Amino acid sequence: MELNSLYLDELREFFKERGEKAFRANQLFTFLHEKKRKDIENSNLSKNALEIIKCEDVVETKIFKIFDSKLDETKKILFKLWDNNLIEGVLMKYKHGYSQCISTQVGCRMGCDFCASTKDGLVRNLTAAEMLNQVYEIENTLNINVSNFILMGSGEPLDNFDEVIRFIKLLHDKKGHNTSYRNITISTCGIADRIIDLANINLPINLAISLHQTNDIDRSNLMPVNKKYNLSKLRDSLIYYSEKTNNRITFEYTLIKNQNDGIKNVEELKSFAKGIKCHINLIPLNPIDEFDEKRPNNQEINHFKNMLEEKGFNVTTRRELGKDISASCGQLRRSVEVN
Ligand code: SF4
Repeated sequence: MELNSLYLDELREFFKERGEKAFRANQLFTFLHEKKRKDIENSNLSKNALEIIKCEDVVETKIFKIFDSKLDETKKILFKLWDNNLIEGVLMKYKHGYSQCISTQVGCRMGCDFCASTKDGLVRNLTAAEMLNQVYEIENTLNINVSNFILMGSGEPLDNFDEVIRFIKLLHDKKGHNTSYRNITISTCGIADRIIDLANINLPINLAISLHQTNDIDRSNLMPVNKKYNLSKLRDSLIYYSEKTNNRITFEYTLIKNQNDGIKNVEELKSFAKGIKCHINLIPLNPIDEFDEKRPNNQEINHFKNMLEEKGFNVTTRRELGKDISASCGQLRRSVEVN
């Protein structure tokens, strides 16, 4: 059993079932999630409590390497998991504080054409503890507090639904990291059934959809998930999500020159987003070896932004941080593993 993936009430039950006082659970939970430590032998747990947990796991994740941008304060981090798999994270510094991009799987099976994380398919899901470890290791190593979290590293968060929800609830726990739900964003390629599940849980987190194309033919070519959950199914799930949660949804839209930056796309986007409280975040394409389409220049990006705004959309263009180190999701892990 992975002790650092358990909720406090599950830990209480664990100790109670083994004849220990339930308050030992509070001690252990605080040690793991507030103090962010794993050397349980040095905690204030009694000998008996230590004996009870000695055969259980407290899963560790180590920082393998940190890459510092020379252009800004962005850092790209490679984490090594207990089984030697590598995952990536990004730490960005904004005026309001630090924001960290979290990986939820090793690899990904979604097959998006522009993404390096999926080139070797899905290796395995991460546990909630392995997601929390990415946060705690960075905070402990750099002696910082991170306030915003985006589940947008390698992996599709909604393809690892239960562990991701567990991670989010543990991160939010007042006796642990105490992160506001409002500061957590799930970014998904659009698994409509899981979006409905997420709406039903109704956590006040942020939801971002990697949209990138505006009609089924082009989106299916770019993102195979669209073959199963086409834009109509995705739209239905988002309407349901909007009505149930009243949250604004962000559409992430990577601009690819001459492929999704025309007036036709603006029209299609308008009809797709009708009735959905949304915001569009434009992302200038970050080319990777396997995907050599051209990236639009600033003038072309602004032109597309203006066309959207004329249709009444609220639009931002993502600031490019760590341009010299980040490349796109999954590239760093692949380059280290290949070399
Ligand atoms: S963009 Fe996200 S969902 Fe798509 S393949 Fe990459 S990690 Fe998976």
